[in-house]
Amino acid sequence: MNLFEIKNLKKHYEVKKGFFAKPTIIKAVNDISFNVKKGEIHSIVGESGCGKSTTAKLLMTIEKPTEGEIFFQGKDITKFTPEELKEYRKKVQIIFQDPYSSLNPRWKVGKVIAEPLLLNTDLSTKEIKEKVYAIMKKVGLNDEWYDRYPHQFSGGQRQRIGIARALILNPEVIICDEPVSALDVSIQAQVLNLLLDLQEEFNLTYVFISHDLGVVEHISDIITVMYFGDIVESNDVDSIFANPQHDYTKKLLSAIPVINF
Ligand code: ADP
Ligand code: MG
Repeated sequence: MNLFEIKNLKKHYEVKKGFFAKPTIIKAVNDISFNVKKGEIHSIVGESGCGKSTTAKLLMTIEKPTEGEIFFQGKDITKFTPEELKEYRKKVQIIFQDPYSSLNPRWKVGKVIAEPLLLNTDLSTKEIKEKVYAIMKKVGLNDEWYDRYPHQFSGGQRQRIGIARALILNPEVIICDEPVSALDVSIQAQVLNLLLDLQEEFNLTYVFISHDLGVVEHISDIITVMYFGDIVESNDVDSIFANPQHDYTKKLLSAIPVINF
């Protein structure tokens, strides 16, 4: 079953370089179509500036498409009523590259993770606390860290806080926008393994964005390759690696560092 059906999606920005200058059009997302099946890890790969985060923002309804449709469970999210949008935003969560800039530095970890519950549910303080402790445990954060501030954590731990926050409303989908790109290589593997475990346990669907094919090789079901706002290739992970069709995909593959042990 397709959870997402994305059809001819475009996001163009008009940018003016100076007051009298003619605006130029930046085709951040030019014209892309792809489907995401329920329960799959669908990676979107391409170099910086190719439109990956813009695609994420369109799926998150942070940005409005210039043209095109995004069907979620058969309904076009661009035509949602405010009520439907509220429900949708509970089901589709996001994890960012830089957890620090997305976490409120003045809030303790417990409150950071609890915020989606405070905004979206009528649960009591006690119930919220229980849920936060339970999810902290799932992502590998100790109980006693509940009262600490984000700056007291390492990058990997902060990403765990971001993951806990994304999970707390029991979403169907998590959009992961370069979730391990800012982390040391040794920590990257830990966070990727955590994401895989959580996907299995909660039957999640991931749209997983990365500029690095090496990062997504071991986690993806499907890889969609973007290049200057367009999709050049989309296929199952084995086919992408064994038999890349597009020159740009071949270039990305050759850029994966070979590690000699
Ligand atoms: P990626 O995440 O793949 O690095 P982005 O989706 O962030 O790429 O950006 C795609 C292109 O769109 C880039 O050229 C970027 O500069 C441009 N862009 C993104 N957001 C805006 C915006 N709000 N206004 C103008 N241009 C933008
Ligand atoms: Mg980006």
